[in-house]
Amino acid sequence: MEVQLKRKPVGQEALADRLADRADQGTLAHAMLFTGPAGRGGLALALALARRLHCTTKGAERPCGSCPSCQQHDQLQHPDLHFTYPVVKPPGKDKALSADQLGTWRALLMEEGPHFDMVDLRDRMSLGNKQPFISVHEASDILRRLSLTAHAGGWKVQVIWGAQWMRTDTANKLLKVIEEPPAKTVFILLADNTENILATILSRTQIVPIPPVGDAEVGSWLKGLGAQGEQVTDAVGLCEGDLARARRLVREDAAGEFAMFVDWMRTTFARDGRKAAGLADAFHDLGRESQKQFLLYALHMVRQCIVGNYGAASAVRLRASERGFAEKFAAYIHHGNVVDMQSELEKALRDVSGNVYGRTVFLDLSMRMMELLHRPR
Ligand SMILES: [Zn+2]
Repeated sequence: MEVQLKRKPVGQEALADRLADRADQGTLAHAMLFTGPAGRGGLALALALARRLHCTTKGAERPCGSCPSCQQHDQLQHPDLHFTYPVVKPPGKDKALSADQLGTWRALLMEEGPHFDMVDLRDRMSLGNKQPFISVHEASDILRRLSLTAHAGGWKVQVIWGAQWMRTDTANKLLKVIEEPPAKTVFILLADNTENILATILSRTQIVPIPPVGDAEVGSWLKGLGAQGEQVTDAVGLCEGDLARARRLVREDAAGEFAMFVDWMRTTFARDGRKAAGLADAFHDLGRESQKQFLLYALHMVRQCIVGNYGAASAVRLRASERGFAEKFAAYIHHGNVVDMQSELEKALRDVSGNVYGRTVFLDLSMRMMELLHRPR
């Protein structure tokens, strides 16, 4: 997978070239904020830019891929490339520092390439229910690192991945250095959007929106991972130009959720109370996380039916296997019941998250659905 680190960012070649040109012409902003879901490749762009800045070969063919700097980049070991990302405090420690999780971060990057997101990182870090963040101690660490002379005498690159998880005190501590970094220092902040970034940070960075990856590029990238046929077509249609999501769609088989949803809707439409009770037991046995996933899936299906009924058919995002059922089911979803249906599903989600007994949640929900599905238009 190391090969993924050497390539130009998937589907973002034009933007990569533009950034490289700015670097060559000396017009690169000293602090940039790449915005867009992580799976679009902001980190891939940051790594490509760092590689170009650090490559010691002269001439147009940079990065060369063979000089000592390029080789250090291949191993994610370049001494002037620094990573900050959200973490939690390790047991027994009083500070949450990215450096403590560097092994996990490097392994994820080497094995999966740069197109991962917070879901993937969470999986690796086994955080449980803890919310990772970028602490004020990490900000001190950044200041300390950047005050040192660059090892190779060239550019220092500080990547802040998941900048939306910076605490306010963290962001405040970094304001000055982001406004006036030491010489030959580049800050690359990455965030899904600008919503959770302090205005004072926004005003000090050049915002670089990362566009969605094109369908053709997503498709060939997935094939490179070994996916094929309908799996690829479905994931391309659903991922919205986000490679991390596309890869998850290919890896996770949604067939189980779909079958259960169809069974549940048929049962409630037929007002079969006994079968609904049986399904409530099955739902209960799924466990809390899968219960949530199923309810989110049900919400998605209901929304897609409404999009199909009242919006453009081309906007419907469903797998090929789901379309046939959705077309028939959509006849029972309309303006007279869709709002209540969504709020019932959302309430069930809250209840499940709030530790209400799964069987009870599902039975109540089924009773409500029996009524709602038969409500006149
Ligand atoms: Zn090189």
